[in-house]
Amino acid sequence: SQQIQFADDMQEFTKFPTKTGRRSLSRSISQSSTDSYSSAASYTDSSDDEVSPREKQQTNSKGSSNFCVKNIKQAEFGRREIEIAEQDMSALISLRKRAQGEKPLAGAKIVGCTHITAQTAVSACLFGGPGLGPAFPWGAKLFISSKWEKAHSKGAPVLSGVAVFAWKGESEDDFWWCIDRCVNVDGWQANMILDDGGDLTHWVYKKYPSVFKKIRGIVEESVTGVHRLYQLSKAGKLCVPAMNVNDSVTKQKFDNLYCCRESILDGLKRTTDVMFGGKQVVVCGYGEVGKGCCAALKALGAIVYVTEIDPICALQACMDGFRVVKLSEVIRQVDVVITCTGNKNVVTREHLDRMKNSCIVCNMGHSNTEIDVTSLRTPELTWERVRSQVDHVIWPDGKRVVLLAEGRLLNLSCSTVPTFVLSITATTQALALIELYNAPEGRYKQDVYLLPKKMDEYVASLHLPSFDAHLTELTDDQAKYLGLNKNGPFKPNYY
Ligand code: NAD
Repeated sequence: SQQIQFADDMQEFTKFPTKTGRRSLSRSISQSSTDSYSSAASYTDSSDDEVSPREKQQTNSKGSSNFCVKNIKQAEFGRREIEIAEQDMSALISLRKRAQGEKPLAGAKIVGCTHITAQTAVSACLFGGPGLGPAFPWGAKLFISSKWEKAHSKGAPVLSGVAVFAWKGESEDDFWWCIDRCVNVDGWQANMILDDGGDLTHWVYKKYPSVFKKIRGIVEESVTGVHRLYQLSKAGKLCVPAMNVNDSVTKQKFDNLYCCRESILDGLKRTTDVMFGGKQVVVCGYGEVGKGCCAALKALGAIVYVTEIDPICALQACMDGFRVVKLSEVIRQVDVVITCTGNKNVVTREHLDRMKNSCIVCNMGHSNTEIDVTSLRTPELTWERVRSQVDHVIWPDGKRVVLLAEGRLLNLSCSTVPTFVLSITATTQALALIELYNAPEGRYKQDVYLLPKKMDEYVASLHLPSFDAHLTELTDDQAKYLGLNKNGPFKPNYY
């Protein structure tokens, strides 16, 4: 058997495909939430330090105070977490090796806003450290795992040049303050935006539109952020090229499907002591995330119902052996409700009123919009926090609904996301940044693009060695027969 061979041109970043990415008319438009720009939420653990990091004077080992974290003294702990994460992010590491010498991001000044974990710290090292080139401030997104608190505080001093503004338990006000500290920096102006959710992009549009004069491109990771970019583009207001990383095939398959297939159970198990075999579960939305959740729960022996608005996804659910129902038809009988639609108000107060005692409600889709949690904050209902990220909402008759993570993303709030999955996302982001930053004038216009297919395939190929997978090479004859280049792309963009 033959080891995987990378095409020569893959190793030179300057020779990336020259055709413009095809504009995506894909899924993101219909699935996105129409809620406000703020996807931030505030969760404060009771064990949290009383003093806000904003009030603290901290300096890292290099004498810099251009960061804001909860406790910089934990830096050594976090450094180890980053090293552990690196072990399952071999593609990113091999990208770093391939880029050595060339430094395809040299001169890039990237301002980022993303979920902060040990794994994103690995990316931060890559983008900000000696590997690819630049230094950049790194904004914070609110769903921060406790892991990151360590990783980040260790990471901040270690990743010289990377300014991190993030801590667990940020309030909404803190969240925007962190973003502002990353955008509004004396003597430093970003020329690339790396966003996840569109909040950073929104902030720059709202507060510092002149920053766009220097921005070469936006790389956006989330469904919601991508949706907002398409809206801006449609309204003729997008003033720089943007790369829709969310819809790159590798990201979609792994981040959404395989990641959620693993992390849904982790999140449920860590927060509840429930046995899922035989339980009735309804999963709202049978997209990539919904498919992952359904597969995992089915494997545990749960009876799974699906709700869908799209007949194609509904038919897929039928073919996979799930009953497709309306939420109102099963709401009285189910033990667990999981939302994965990217939509808003999928679970309403009316649904919550009709749930049976001890029904578990959680969200794997978009931010905190899918379950109408606000409607539960009324005087007749009592909230009882039974453990971290678990609230019992109690009705006057004693009925309890178990709400996980206050309706925010269950897996990001209550479990860990597999490092391997994050490696794929991070590698895709890295290539998108490199492509936009190095693209010659005119290759990308003020529009939203998908990562060129060939690069998407490259991301996957970088991950194959982890499995000792041996790719079959097309013969000349076969390539001619299929009308393909032997080095790809192997599939059309819509695949
Ligand atoms: P998707 O478009 O593939 O799936 C969403 C599905 O929900 C679609 O099939 C759509 O038809 C359906 N839907 C929309 N409104 C509905 C409603 N009211 N009732 C029932 N079904 C409805 O998207 P996806 O890739 O599965 O992502 C879904 C959400 O999950 C997005 O918000 C995305 O950002 C988020 N996401 C979460 C994670 C995570 O780790 N938890 C990972 C990736 C994506």
